[in-house]
Amino acid sequence: MFPFHGYELFLKTSNFWECFDPLYLTVNKRDRYNVRIQDNISIAEYRQIYGDEWPEEWKLKYPVFDQIQVPMLQNREDMIKWVTRNGDIVNYSTGQVWCDLRCSNAIKDWHHIVWFSQMVPKHAFILWLAIWNRLSTQDRMSKWNLSKSYSCALCDEVPDSVAHLFFECSYSRKVWEIMKTKLLFKGLSYKIGSVIEVLEKYPFKKQIWSVINRIVIAAIVYYIWQERNSRIFKGMKRDSQGLSMKVQEFIKVKLLTLKVKHTKSVQQAGEIWQINWNC
Ligand SMILES: [Zn+2]
Repeated sequence: MFPFHGYELFLKTSNFWECFDPLYLTVNKRDRYNVRIQDNISIAEYRQIYGDEWPEEWKLKYPVFDQIQVPMLQNREDMIKWVTRNGDIVNYSTGQVWCDLRCSNAIKDWHHIVWFSQMVPKHAFILWLAIWNRLSTQDRMSKWNLSKSYSCALCDEVPDSVAHLFFECSYSRKVWEIMKTKLLFKGLSYKIGSVIEVLEKYPFKKQIWSVINRIVIAAIVYYIWQERNSRIFKGMKRDSQGLSMKVQEFIKVKLLTLKVKHTKSVQQAGEIWQINWNC
């Protein structure tokens, strides 16, 4: 298993999977074997077989491949680079690695926000990638393609990044503002990192609001990421109000599947989300 922070791939001989450690965990062994992408394959070897494309089988089975580009070969000598937890590519040094790993320990509690029994797996996965800054955002893509200019598909103002999309972007900001009215927290930040920090301090129990908070943040991140990709890859647009409605509809259906006991908090949640649990 590869570390979350890892070596960026510029190298013909580099291991294909080191660039995609979350994918290595996602694509099961049989699916890797079926398409002849073994654990020790290099980027050059991969591109000889599939070029710029992902294997069809993977694209059908794992939607995440719609959002990721095949790594490019670059005409230069092999070198070792380190991808920091902020996604910056720097020269490898044990000091930087140590810092990143130490920082990781400082946020050890965040996984309770992502992985819990009532989570929606595809939402959890995108939130997980966002927290690790591993989404294929334009700030990352621009490091691969220096000649291309990028602009956020949601606001068309600046290149997108995790920080921009969640929720500095004027479009995302509107969605987040609407959704915040459905939570008990007041004054939640427009920075995803700060929001996660607030949620980390909330008890990770089965109380209704603890569950709602986590379902909501994962759903917002997922739907904003989906909207961004729909605009880029399909040319389809939904305004911030429409997206907010879609997120709320999804969350309401999800909340209705929860088994709850009648408490003051449940009654309050039912009123805010307009749900009758019949408990
Ligand atoms: Zn934007």
